[in-house]
Amino acid sequence: MRIVLLGAPGAGKGTVSKLITAKNGAVQISTGDMLRKEMKDGSALGRKAEDYIKRGDLVPDGVILDMMKERLQQPDCSTGFILDGFPRTIPQAEALTALFEALEIELDGAVDIDVPRDVLMGRLTSRRTCSNGACQAIYNVISNPTKDGVHCDKCGSPVVQREDETEEAISHRLATYDEKTLPLIEFYSAQKLLIKINGNQNPEKVFDELMRSLKK
Ligand code: AMP
Repeated sequence: MRIVLLGAPGAGKGTVSKLITAKNGAVQISTGDMLRKEMKDGSALGRKAEDYIKRGDLVPDGVILDMMKERLQQPDCSTGFILDGFPRTIPQAEALTALFEALEIELDGAVDIDVPRDVLMGRLTSRRTCSNGACQAIYNVISNPTKDGVHCDKCGSPVVQREDETEEAISHRLATYDEKTLPLIEFYSAQKLLIKINGNQNPEKVFDELMRSLKK
């Protein structure tokens, strides 16, 4: 399986990716997770990305494209991948199309996980993320809290509210999504690759709907 996951912040791209990986084996490639890990490691790339991420702005296309060109050529991608949070702009999507052509990779679909705006806001403000850069498990204080409410169930590190998940940063991220990423729906629709899924249902159902749509 080779897919791109579209959908606004909070649409559930990360959760659905993890389900697909568990059931299908395709590797999840999340640009957000990769950038947060670089920040945590204090690398040059992480330092370059940090201010953009904290403000809720997109990291410049050139930085993302360099990172992804390298990532997509790693051996684990040969069994399939889910691009979670990439591409996010038209120039990124165009560069990705060119890269796929060069690598002779065919995309199965670009999946838009559709969730109403008020639901997205609620999900993001109540989200908590494991502070361990290698884990980054996601919880929700209302619908999916950790067992003790403080530490990650998987690795025991503290869970935290991401700096870009305050109400102000979230509003800015959603506005950025509307301006920069929404045009990708038209981009992939024109290539007959767009698949729209109802994201306002439990993740297992989102997964089932996605798998059914891909088989069609
Ligand atoms: P995410 O976890 O996917 O919501 O990403 C968190 C943040 O990382 C975003 O708000 C951006 O600042 C940055 N980011 C992630 N993916 C991209 C991308 N494809 N292009 C530009 N910035 C990105």
